[in-house]
Amino acid sequence: MDFDFEKYKTQGIKVNYYYICKRKLWLYDKGICFEKNFDRVLQGKILHKNAFQREEHKDMLIDEMIKIDIVSADHIKEIKISSKMKNPDIMQLLYYLFYLKQLGISKKGTINYVKEKKVVEVELTEEDEKEIKSALINIRQILMMKKPPEIKKLPYCKKCAYYEFCYAKEVD
Ligand code: SF4
Repeated sequence: MDFDFEKYKTQGIKVNYYYICKRKLWLYDKGICFEKNFDRVLQGKILHKNAFQREEHKDMLIDEMIKIDIVSADHIKEIKISSKMKNPDIMQLLYYLFYLKQLGISKKGTINYVKEKKVVEVELTEEDEKEIKSALINIRQILMMKKPPEIKKLPYCKKCAYYEFCYAKEVD
């Protein structure tokens, strides 16, 4: 069955959030956002501004939809502070590789974890493509929900920008 990419394509951050927490994805999509004042988000923005300053092709915006940190001849690179959210980071990068493939561009990817001075290599496989398609369909369904998904206690909730919002509601 053909996959209607135009119908399902979305921002990279939403793919990342899908793998972190479905509720976070929904809240972010609805503009309920505490992240701009959140220390860790600010830290990430400063990191992006300062990292890899000599790279020519930084923050490449494609289709007003995805923004890739660095694009080189055969790789795309994402810069992250730490590998605490490694799986969501990898899925976001795989999504970018998948997105580029839909445009007829084939590349590999790396994630550069600055604090740990670690580089993770990522290559898109057929299995990954199936996973990405399924995630995009699920993301669309989640974003069409009238209410946010229920709170699911996750090990990183206390470090999430939505923590007070989620748990204050729960106490009510
Ligand atoms: S606090 Fe936990 S449940 Fe709430 S959005 Fe963040 S990760 Fe999801």
